[in-house]
Amino acid sequence: MARINAPVKNKEELEVEIQDLSYQAMGVAKVEGYPLFIENTLPGEVALVKVTKTTKNFGYAKLLELIKKSPDRIESQNRKYMQTGIAPLGHLKYEAQLKFKQKLIQDLLKKAHLDDIEVQATLGQNPPYGYRNKAQVPVRKVNGKLEIGFFKQNSHDFMPLEHFMIQDPRIDEVLLAVRDILRDYHVPAYNEELNTGVIRHILVRRGHYSKEVMVVLVTRLKDLRQGQKIAQLIQATCPDVVSVLQNVNPKRTNVILGQETKLLAGKETITDTLNDLTFEIGAKSFYQVNPTQTEKLYNEAIKRAHLTGEEVVIDAYCGIGTISLNMAKHAKKVYGVEIVPQAIKDAKENAKRNFLAHNTEFELGDAESWMARWQEKGIKPDVIMVDPPRKGLTESLIESAVLMQPQKIVYISCNPATLVRDLGQFKSRGYEVTQPILPVDQFPQTTHVETVVLMSRKDK
Ligand code: SAH
Repeated sequence: MARINAPVKNKEELEVEIQDLSYQAMGVAKVEGYPLFIENTLPGEVALVKVTKTTKNFGYAKLLELIKKSPDRIESQNRKYMQTGIAPLGHLKYEAQLKFKQKLIQDLLKKAHLDDIEVQATLGQNPPYGYRNKAQVPVRKVNGKLEIGFFKQNSHDFMPLEHFMIQDPRIDEVLLAVRDILRDYHVPAYNEELNTGVIRHILVRRGHYSKEVMVVLVTRLKDLRQGQKIAQLIQATCPDVVSVLQNVNPKRTNVILGQETKLLAGKETITDTLNDLTFEIGAKSFYQVNPTQTEKLYNEAIKRAHLTGEEVVIDAYCGIGTISLNMAKHAKKVYGVEIVPQAIKDAKENAKRNFLAHNTEFELGDAESWMARWQEKGIKPDVIMVDPPRKGLTESLIESAVLMQPQKIVYISCNPATLVRDLGQFKSRGYEVTQPILPVDQFPQTTHVETVVLMSRKDK
């Protein structure tokens, strides 16, 4: 595939037909087999484009004019702002988004010669908007006014915004109320270049079932003048806000939250339920952001595990124990492991809160070492559940898992590329995918793809 020269030149204008959509939601055109990636174009469209960058094996171009539009295109008013940042697939009809996610996995399987594995239609959400239970929006001064908004992808272009499309609509309302109060109290917005100003971000979380709202004011300085008064006013304006916190982040960094959090009004945490289990959520707790789709995802994982109440289960990468506790309701014993200390503390608390401490055990540490340790100790799980971060599993974790000879391995993945790689590894060690892969859309309007897969021991 190596080329000496690209068939197009930088700044060249040409007409192309879009053939595919990349995993980053860019249209792909082929010029004499050379791929050109073009933002805001869709398969089947014909476009006039201008080349902006060429490398040996591929190039980028920008859209000048759409000559033929796809029937799957949605014209949205805010497209220019939304499409590249908050909603990279916002210009694609939802049905087509679901197909895109299914095809992405199918294409990867084909490349890995695993295309005997089937992929089901993506389990979607209706409506595919307003689902996020957590928002963290930057605050800046624009034309002399304090504004909330977002940064365009890969840039520091700040766009003031009032409707965020994929967040719980009540969160958007609370954000606007908080913005107006901050304006009234003349709280200076953060200035990134000069490292001046006070308020950097507003974080809002809302329990989907409990309806409890938490507001976190992220400030550069410890001193927030009239902080308590502002907090009281937020609660008076939005009675569902049961917790107002201040988080201090003095550092010049992209990381949103700092070390120190203090209570301004109400309580420290909110609660919410997930499949009727109760969880307590703090400013920094990890909690799945799409509550109803998470319930579906977990239920599909539990279905695949075929729990009868007799099984021993390992839940690697357990976070705050959400899957572990869901499984503990239907299993004899669940072991969980997680690398973040606060998350393991939360998992243990959550087990107690839900009267599931008797058949769960949570360990702090690296999943790889704990799997090896459990295997050496002679623990015989019937089901191993893994839900790793984007980089997927390590070979040594796969090795330890297989040595324990579970009947079933259930894999939840947020990255199809590493999933497909790992499925190959399991296959060569005697574990086969025994039910079609199910994509569950946890993040409508974005390119994220989440899947659940069941593997079983071949010689069963
Ligand atoms: N199953 C949980 C969390 C999944 S996210 C849920 O559904 O909510 C993946 C988790 O893996 C994160 O909590 C992350 O902190 C944890 N993690 C990352 N690397 C790890 C490692 N090497 N060992 C154990 N846990 C790890």
